[in-house]
Amino acid sequence: MQLKTILNRIQKFNCFVYGSVRWVEDAQEPTIEADLRPRANSRPICAGCGHKRPGYDRLPTRSFEFVPMWGIKVFFRYAPRRVDCPSCGIRVERMPWSEGKHRLTETYAWFLAGWARRLSWKEVAEAFRTSWDHVFCSVEMAVTWGRAHRDLSGIEAIGIDEIQWQRGHRYLTLVYQIDAGCRRLLWIGKKRKVKTLLGFFRWFGKERTAELSYICSDMWKPYLRVIAKKAGHAIHILDRFHIMANMSKAIDKVRAQEAKELKDKGYDPVLTKSRWLLLKRPENLTEKQETKLADLLQYNLKSIRSYLLKEEFHLFWSYKSPYWAGQFLDKWCTKTMRSKIEPMKDIARSLRKHRPLLLNWFRAKGQFSSGIVEGFNNKAKLTTRKAYGFRTYHAAETALYHALGALPVPEVTHEFF
Ligand SMILES: [Zn+2]
Repeated sequence: MQLKTILNRIQKFNCFVYGSVRWVEDAQEPTIEADLRPRANSRPICAGCGHKRPGYDRLPTRSFEFVPMWGIKVFFRYAPRRVDCPSCGIRVERMPWSEGKHRLTETYAWFLAGWARRLSWKEVAEAFRTSWDHVFCSVEMAVTWGRAHRDLSGIEAIGIDEIQWQRGHRYLTLVYQIDAGCRRLLWIGKKRKVKTLLGFFRWFGKERTAELSYICSDMWKPYLRVIAKKAGHAIHILDRFHIMANMSKAIDKVRAQEAKELKDKGYDPVLTKSRWLLLKRPENLTEKQETKLADLLQYNLKSIRSYLLKEEFHLFWSYKSPYWAGQFLDKWCTKTMRSKIEPMKDIARSLRKHRPLLLNWFRAKGQFSSGIVEGFNNKAKLTTRKAYGFRTYHAAETALYHALGALPVPEVTHEFF
């Protein structure tokens, strides 16, 4: 069997045929080149308007990298024609294997982008002996195509979340679709301001916004404001993940402060190495941690009292009726306000303030598991962390859409991986 036969099986073009296929003797790495030429009597298609146009001249031969085979690099060689187009002027013809000035064939770019969903971009570049830039361009192409071709109809539930990226307090706002049948990243914006989320609603459009039934978010004020203004008709839920995360932050604060106080007063450092004890759920503790927690519980420490308040609050989520959940919430807040522990009192204050939104959780019960936004949040953090090369916002954005966007890919006749 000839290589040409294989190429025709896996990558056949209507208006172009393969010429000679040869081994490149003087290449640094094992390389095969396949010539391409226009099918006889076929007229070039203008890349600008997509119409068949009379030929004008030919450009020098260029190489387009194709999917490597058996560790051998494969290039298509072709001298693009230029057309004399009445509407676009002198333009390069459209080539079905490559768009614009890219040096990679589209098939190879999709191949790299596919691997980039399983490996880090660096690993992909190493595995296929190509550059980080080529991998990046490929992912970028896949994301652009996927975002242009995705179906945005029937979105009823969204979750709004933020992640920190780079060092310092720089945030990205992420909006997910969290419907039972379709969960994916929909949109990314810089920062976490009013303007950021307004940008989402502008992009999403009035019609789609009108179809939203549920919106999940944390208690971040700019988000609350924008959601009330733009999607007041939807049930706005403050989600469990973010509330419990805030509570953990408060406990961390109490513990750090108290540990310092104890040290300053010369008491036993009972709180050292207790951080995870107080943040973890009891069922997740190791045996050793359990013993240490039992010890700690004997002290009447603010950290311990905060911990107990947090554990008690977990009950809140197990209620079925919004009414009784509300009763529980009120009692918990009263108790916490009397605790004299400032960070916990802050939590109680904000829970009181957002009581109706909190109780929406019970009105929407059964629609969402609290894990959706949390799961996305973890994956998003992992994606931005894994790729330490993402110094620019554009690269981080591209990586996040690629990893979490569940973007469509074109249907092809032959799967390359
Ligand atoms: Zn044209």
